[in-house]
Amino acid sequence: MSRPYNFSAGPAMLPEPVLSQAQEEMLDWNGSGMCVAEMSHRGKEFMSIAEQAEQDLRELLAIPEGYRVLFLQGGASSQFAMVPMNLSGRVGKADYLNTGSWSKKAIAEAHRFCAVHVAASTQPEHFVRAPAQSELALSEDAAYLHYTPNETIEGVEFPYIPESSAPLVADMSSTLLSRPIDVSRYGLIYAGAQKNIGPAGLTILIVRDDLIGEPLSGTPTMFDYRVHADSGSMYNTPPTYAWYLAGLVFKWLKDLGGLEGMGEINRRKAEKLYAAIDGSSFYANPVEPASRSWMNVPFTLADPELDADFLAGAKAAGMLTLKGHRSVGGMRASIYNAMPEAGVDALIAFMAEFERTKG
Ligand SMILES: *Cc1c(COP(=O)(O)O)cnc(C)c1O
Repeated sequence: MSRPYNFSAGPAMLPEPVLSQAQEEMLDWNGSGMCVAEMSHRGKEFMSIAEQAEQDLRELLAIPEGYRVLFLQGGASSQFAMVPMNLSGRVGKADYLNTGSWSKKAIAEAHRFCAVHVAASTQPEHFVRAPAQSELALSEDAAYLHYTPNETIEGVEFPYIPESSAPLVADMSSTLLSRPIDVSRYGLIYAGAQKNIGPAGLTILIVRDDLIGEPLSGTPTMFDYRVHADSGSMYNTPPTYAWYLAGLVFKWLKDLGGLEGMGEINRRKAEKLYAAIDGSSFYANPVEPASRSWMNVPFTLADPELDADFLAGAKAAGMLTLKGHRSVGGMRASIYNAMPEAGVDALIAFMAEFERTKG
């Protein structure tokens, strides 16, 4: 039986070879007689899984010396607080770019901990593009600049890395590992795993070592980056099974030829889908072409009355979770790394057929 294509924005599809390997190893990981979920996080078996995963992630992203990689819990949403708690202390002020629903949430949370300067906002235009570098009104004394390279809900992506004298902080929840990135341009990168990395419950943080160590007074132990960095992300029990599955995803990416190859596939998938949308008068995507996301593709039907029909037909044809975010409506196809190109081809064929028969 072939599995359906799941276009969920997160938790999202995982690569089938990863699921098969996890299934094979479920009852007995590597002769240990244990499932990974049953292992002590401090035992030699899990330590080897953890170390290998970090090493593979460092290799995939070519993470330079001087960066810590942390495997945390709490989701990207906890980072909305942890970033200002750990990084704003020295100056008490941070710059933020307001480019969609997720950056808005990050900004609202940061207000609890420091002065926030919104250096650009595309909200008046309903978040249909990324602001240009020349539009960023950056502070001279910000502790950091926070932005969201890929806005998962609006389907807006920055086509460039912002320049700023303050360290750059990026919420890469829905874009990390989709293509190569220059980590050295960033002070801190964080991502909830459930979009493009692995299962929910794991949050990856990549942080320049010199940025951590001065949390706001009163910062809870579990929210202090230094605590996690000094303990190898094992101050308390880490999300062991999610860490292991993410490690299998890293191996899968390495076997595919790393992020260069993955990026090429992702570019092709996105270009095809946008071309199908733009080539039809029945489907539309509101995002400016230069700011369109490779990962999340929202689109509307000319007649919203047909939405339910579209979703039912797609489901019957083996395509799940295409309903758009409740705040945006219409459809959204999330096409992360684990979505095969054949899944995008199937969606495009279904869209054409639906337009022909119902449009
Ligand atoms: C999904 C998402 C979040 C929220 O992630 P949680 O892990 O659920 O807290 C934050 N930012 C972006 C860009 C996202 O896509």
